[in-house]
Formats: sequence, C-alpha cells, structure tokens
Amino acid sequence: MRSPIPDYLAEALESVEADNSGETADYIPELAAANPERLAVALCTEDGRLYSQGGVDVAFSIQSISKPFVYALALADRGFDEVMEKVSVEPSGDPFNEISFEEGTGRPLNPMVNAGAITTHTLAGPRDATPPERASRIIDGLSAFAGRRLQIDENVYESEISTAYRNRALANMLRANGMIDDEPLDAVTGYTRQCALLVTVEDLALMAATLANGGVNPVTEVPVVPARVVRQVLSVMATCGMYDGSGHWMTEVGVPAKSGVAGGLIGALPGQAGIATFSPRLDSHGNSVRGVDLFRRFTTDMGMHLMEVPPPGPSVVRGRRLVGDGDNAVQVVSLQGGIRFSGAERVLRELEDDPLTQKSVAISLMRVATVGPVARRMLLEAVRRLTLDGHDVYLIDPDGVLHDPDPGDGGRVTVVSSYDDLADLRKAEP
Ligand code: GLN
Repeated sequence: MRSPIPDYLAEALESVEADNSGETADYIPELAAANPERLAVALCTEDGRLYSQGGVDVAFSIQSISKPFVYALALADRGFDEVMEKVSVEPSGDPFNEISFEEGTGRPLNPMVNAGAITTHTLAGPRDATPPERASRIIDGLSAFAGRRLQIDENVYESEISTAYRNRALANMLRANGMIDDEPLDAVTGYTRQCALLVTVEDLALMAATLANGGVNPVTEVPVVPARVVRQVLSVMATCGMYDGSGHWMTEVGVPAKSGVAGGLIGALPGQAGIATFSPRLDSHGNSVRGVDLFRRFTTDMGMHLMEVPPPGPSVVRGRRLVGDGDNAVQVVSLQGGIRFSGAERVLRELEDDPLTQKSVAISLMRVATVGPVARRMLLEAVRRLTLDGHDVYLIDPDGVLHDPDPGDGGRVTVVSSYDDLADLRKAEP
C-alpha cells in the first residue's frame, strides 16, 4: 500500500497556494528579494520517518527559528540558573524586534524576541569561549539537530548586518544592562550569522522532531540536548514562539512553534512529530501567512492541539479474581493500558476502598503497556503498604513494565511472568 500521508500534505499545500497576502520581510534586502511563491512542507515522525511535499530542496535562511535551538544549547552548556539570570521566560506581547527589557532587572523578557536571542547567542558554549569558538559550537549544535552539516548564506548575512541598526541598538542596551559580556558588535555579528544558516523544510522538520523526541535526533540517534532542556524550550516556544501572535497561535493551533522572517515555520508535537513549512510572505507579526494557515489546517486534520482533552481510556483496573483454592489461593488484581498518575490513583483508591482479603495477593501487569515514572513510584508504594498490612505480594510482569520493582522500606515483592509460574511457586512454598 502507498501511504496516504504524502497525498494529504500535497493537498494541504494546494489548499493554501492561491493565498498571496502578506509581504516578504522588507528590512533585510536579500529576503525582500526572495521568490514569494515558494511553498513547501515536511513532517518528521518521532522515530525519524520523513514526509515532504512542494519545494523541498529550496534552502532558505533559518532566521529566528534558530532561537529555540540556540537557547537549548545555552541551557545545556551553562545550566538553567546562569541562563535565567540573563534572559527571562515571560511572553512580551511585543513584536520580535521591540526594544524592551524587564523592569528592575534589565533582562530581556524571553529568548524568542531578538533582545533575548542576542543574549542567549552569547551563552552558547563554555564561559571562556571566544566569539569564533561560540560560532562553531552553534553551527555544530544546530547541525546535530538537523542531522547534517549546515552552512551560512554569506549574502543573507551581509545583507542583514549592513542594515542591523535595531539589533545593534539592542546589543548596546544589553551590554549597558550587564546582560552580555561581549562587545555589542561581536554579539550582533554572531547572532546575525546564526540567523543566516541555510536550511530546507526537511532540515527544519528533523530539527523539530529532535525536540519532539526529547532531544535525541531520531534519524542519527545522536543525543543533542537533555530532555529537561527540551521541556524548557518547548514551553517557551508555546508561550512566546509566535511573538505578539503567541496567544492566538496557542489557542488556535496549540503546538509549540517558532517562525522565522525568511518564511520558515516549525511546530513540535511532543512524543509525535516535528512539522515545518516554508512560504516567504509574512503577516504583521512576521509569521508566514500560508505557514500559519497550513498549521491551522494540520491541527484540525491531525488532532494536534495539545490542550485537546483525550477521550477517557478503558479503566486501568481491569478486574479481580482468585487463582488457586483454599489457603493457597492468590487474589489477583489485573491492570491494563498505559498507567500514569491518574491511572495509578485509581489503583490506590480501589485498594483502599475495597481492601484485598486474601493473604497472598498479586498485581498483574500482563496487559499493561507502559507505566510512567510517577505511576511506578505509586504502584511500588502500594506494594510496600500491602506488605506492611501483612500480605505476601506478587507481581505478574512478563515484560518488565515495572522495571527494578524494589518497594524499599519494609516492602517485599516476588516477580513472576505468568499465572502458571505463580501457581508453581505457590506449590513449592511450604
Ligand atoms: N535575523 C532576524 C532579525 O534579527 C530574525 C528575526 C526573525 O526571524 N523574526 O531581525
């Protein structure tokens, strides 16, 4: 069978093709001159399968889409405290190039606006890195996200730096506020070069998929940044990634995203996929008009909105039964599905409201697909309390979904792989 996904993506492109509203970025001559008709989309799943349609080979400058990735590198290299001291995480509600700082501290409001991004640029790499060393760290880091070596478009860089008066003003303010240690011009030069890295929609989809996959590039399998960093970056993308259009974006589309003034746009759907679009005409916020439209469509068609409440799954507690008879009988509680906090709470509640009556009890995880870390701790605590209540506790866990089941502190558990093993074990016991 041929997968319908490429057809779907082609159809989505067709549906927005006729829209020629918006303008290419006019403050960077090289971008103003870009072919405004270009249109492309790519989707990369969290396990690295790439689908794309339209002008997928066209390379364009990454621009502000570099910001979340460089923020990720800064967090990984310098730690949360040091980065947070210099850049906050509050949505500014201002345009991307606004000259505004947090009252009292003089910090940029977030790493997605230019003031914040120029600052995070200076925080990538070790503290004593020279500007060229930092530039290499950034190219290497963004290349690792993309899974291939990225290059700078020198024409775009020259074109932007020759008119970067606002960004220079920002860098001077940042230096005056004590947020950057660099010479302001070095910081703007480095930041502008970072924005001039060339990417295709496929690169961007893989970069976004690396975020969606918790920081590990799903194609090369290289761990690029830790999962805790990814959580921070996706949160900031969700609240600030679309600048003063972020509130509308989050309510209407509902995925962490970032736009760039060359016309790129990415969205990262945690645990599922990275998506990228390219179309150079921009709306008044500097976000790609047809890109935003495509994402609106994807949200509806693919059910991507993160705030969508999932339909209730089957109850985690599947049932209870007695296995064996007489004194040898074991009371088994069978669980099912994927267990997270609310599922584990149901188990604890049932064990409290309707206590187990047999001395020997078992929890069967045979039909359980996954146990989240919090649910794991809750279930192990249940095992511990059942032991303290005087029960002999067994776990039937053939696939080891509850890894290292050590309840600790007076808890005891015997792990078996089947009812037969449980019965054999019971027979062997005195
Ligand atoms: N390099 C651009 C700038 O600093 C990036 C802005 C953007 O893509 N929104 O103005």
